[in-house]
Amino acid sequence: MKNISLMGATGSIGIQTLDVIREHPEEFKLTAISVGKNIEEARKIIMEFSPKLVSVQQKEDAETLCGEFPSSVTILHGEEGLVEVACHQDADVLVNAVLGSVGLYPTLQAIEAGKTIAIANKETLVTAGHLVMEAARGKGTTLLPVDSEHSAIFQALQGEKEKNIEKLVITASGGSFRDRTREELKGVSVHEALNHPNWSMGAKITIDSASMMNKGLEVIEAHWLFDIPYDQIDVVQHRESIIHSMIQFHDSSVMAQLGTPDMRVPIQYALTYPDRLQRQGKRLDLTEIGKLHFEKMDLNRFRCLAFAYDAGRIGGSMTTVLNAANEASVAMFLNNKISFLDIETYIEKALNAHQVIHKPDLETIHEIDRETRLLVSSWL
Ligand code: NDP
Ligand code: MG
Repeated sequence: MKNISLMGATGSIGIQTLDVIREHPEEFKLTAISVGKNIEEARKIIMEFSPKLVSVQQKEDAETLCGEFPSSVTILHGEEGLVEVACHQDADVLVNAVLGSVGLYPTLQAIEAGKTIAIANKETLVTAGHLVMEAARGKGTTLLPVDSEHSAIFQALQGEKEKNIEKLVITASGGSFRDRTREELKGVSVHEALNHPNWSMGAKITIDSASMMNKGLEVIEAHWLFDIPYDQIDVVQHRESIIHSMIQFHDSSVMAQLGTPDMRVPIQYALTYPDRLQRQGKRLDLTEIGKLHFEKMDLNRFRCLAFAYDAGRIGGSMTTVLNAANEASVAMFLNNKISFLDIETYIEKALNAHQVIHKPDLETIHEIDRETRLLVSSWL
């Protein structure tokens, strides 16, 4: 039996993690959860899974829930609450499925507490990958990727040696606007951007997929998780999302991981690694699909991907700015404050305005993250 702490339980990955736990009651027990503002959903999760600890974003919500549940359920709030969930003494594995760089500090604390971490929260690795990986190496912590591309690479790496990797090939579905020109992106609505062809995900990552920033964040995530230089990470568009990513080795052999697009597969693998468990769900039938397609990425069309490679290569605080500017501008787009193409304009402006700091410490990262968000909102 594995005890699981789950940050971001009310989100897309959080809910699918609960599906995996529900499918295997003899294998997994939910010990602690964090949610943001969705208290209605939190109530349902508490009733069904009886976690010992619950953390919510706001104090008032914590007070409301405290009045509703017995004292055997501890209810906390804010960053302190997130850290308690991340480090819960009973948890064997932390699933970090929170959204955004708010996940950074709790992740570092969980590493310090010796937790195994299944990481979906890519913004944490983008904003401060050097701090996370250094802490993880120091503690001998295993970071198990949940993101489907990184899980694919991780699975293809089993039994292999990292030193034999020639390059990683990350696949990209292309998102909601893959067949539109830049001209056709002018004036697209939030509703259109949220209509992803292959995956059902949270709003922010769906917009990131449409802008191709999601792939950019994933390139940086792969750089940190697998310790690979940017020149050895390629992205190809693969519209069917069947091959989740590949590794090309020095002897020219390529290992790929395939499957129907369902995030519960990589989530479950992270929870059962190095073992696998039976699961329900659609099996891959390649004869049904018939053809798979692969196209070169156009970095002039998908400028956010180019920004991510550039920021990654510069390194240091540049990826903190990339992430914060993206989080801030996507939030403004979702609130109908700016246009879709403004997202990349704002990110580019923020990157150009920044003087890089190499090896920033946690305090500096927090400061730059905060300043970048303020700067981007000041352009409204
Ligand atoms: P969602 O927006 O669906 O969920 C985000 C979760 O984080 C919710 O539980 C939300 O709470 C909580 N949350 C948001 N802001 C805060 C905050 N400030 N403090 C505390 N909790 C907060 O996101 P996804 O599940 O789509 O994505 C989560 C992470 O996983 C992201 O980093 C994403 O890039 C990554 N990922 C997602 C994939 C997917 O298929 N969805 C695939 C691969 C990676 P509430 O809703 O209660 O407010
Ligand atoms: Mg992904």
